[in-house]
Amino acid sequence: INSKLPNLPESIFTTMSGLANKHNAINLSQGFPNFETSTILQHLVSQAMSNGHNQYAHMRGDIELREVIAQKIENLYQTNYNPQNEITITAGATEALFNAITCFVNKNDEVIIFKPAFDSYEPVVKLNGGLPVLIQLNYPDYKVNWQEVASKITSKTKMIILNTPLNPTGTLFTNNDMMALQYLITNTNIIVISDEVYEHMTYDGHPHQSACKYPILKAQSFVIASFGKTFHNTGWKIGYCAAPKYLMDEFIKVHEFNIYSINTPTQKAFATFVKDESNYSYLNQFYQNKRDLFLEGIKNSNFTYVPSKGTYFQLLKYDKITQENDVDFAKRLVKEFKIATIPVSVFNVDNLDEKVLRFCFAKTDETIIKATEILCKIN
Ligand code: PMP
Ligand code: GLN
Repeated sequence: INSKLPNLPESIFTTMSGLANKHNAINLSQGFPNFETSTILQHLVSQAMSNGHNQYAHMRGDIELREVIAQKIENLYQTNYNPQNEITITAGATEALFNAITCFVNKNDEVIIFKPAFDSYEPVVKLNGGLPVLIQLNYPDYKVNWQEVASKITSKTKMIILNTPLNPTGTLFTNNDMMALQYLITNTNIIVISDEVYEHMTYDGHPHQSACKYPILKAQSFVIASFGKTFHNTGWKIGYCAAPKYLMDEFIKVHEFNIYSINTPTQKAFATFVKDESNYSYLNQFYQNKRDLFLEGIKNSNFTYVPSKGTYFQLLKYDKITQENDVDFAKRLVKEFKIATIPVSVFNVDNLDEKVLRFCFAKTDETIIKATEILCKIN
């Protein structure tokens, strides 16, 4: 067959979670919590089902939920989106990313992607005939050099995809980064996708800088969020996208014929749950405590690190332990030590091996303690 995506390996998340199950290992690889989503939220979903909310929702999403999201964005970032036509509920951030890329990227359009990056961006750009233009960020601070970005912009640049807080590195785009990006796209037709699925996981007082806070940037951006990531229910696959009307008008053309609408009962439940700010305002501190517990636990290990500033991932460098490449070392860790992680080179340009593994700390304190005790024994 004439594959549209030749040589695309199985996703590293599928591989590592599979290995974790096979070896009965502690799974700190794929990013999902091993604790339960709120029982109130679970109850709201079953209540919505009992109350007969079981048929197709509005194509753009339940209007009450869209209104709640518009209010939440206004409270957090002091900017307005019209819930009627500037917010769409999606099947997770993954669907939103697919739609936003697909509705604008044509054959030979260039799309700037910072690496390491979440693994869905590049295949979707390629499916649409686009050309990923990759910019490598490097250990330990993974800062963007905006002059380098400027030098990669051509007349064919259609889009820039950014992710803040950044999976897998745990870095944050600062106010200066966002201002630099805004400056670069001013008076251009470049569209920005701002993947902000970890917006409620930033640490040590560092704020999340949403693209929607910057007026020119907002006017050219799709801002994408994930309820799965925020509310500990990644298996529900629900998220949303916010964008100015002229962009959203195109986005929904893909959404409508890709998925049409998202399941109704979870939307009804989130419409009630997200209204209450206390259901998410605790998250930064909650995950900071988990990060700190993880770092305290490995303090005396042979791994080295820079504390994660955001996301629920921590990178650890292991060059004091072995010179094996990260994929081999990650596979050995699962088999010999029963800890599953993600080797970061798979997210890099040309599989650049910096001897760094990604650990997900969205786990119970008990799991974190157990995992760090094992990590301290590796030398
Ligand atoms: N973007 C990033 C940066 C991610 O890490 C993930 C994985 N959760 C997604 C998007 C996809 O999110 P969802 O599970 O809501 O589709
Ligand atoms: N975002 C998750 C991670 O980085 C994985 C999601 C997926 O498996 N596609 O681990």
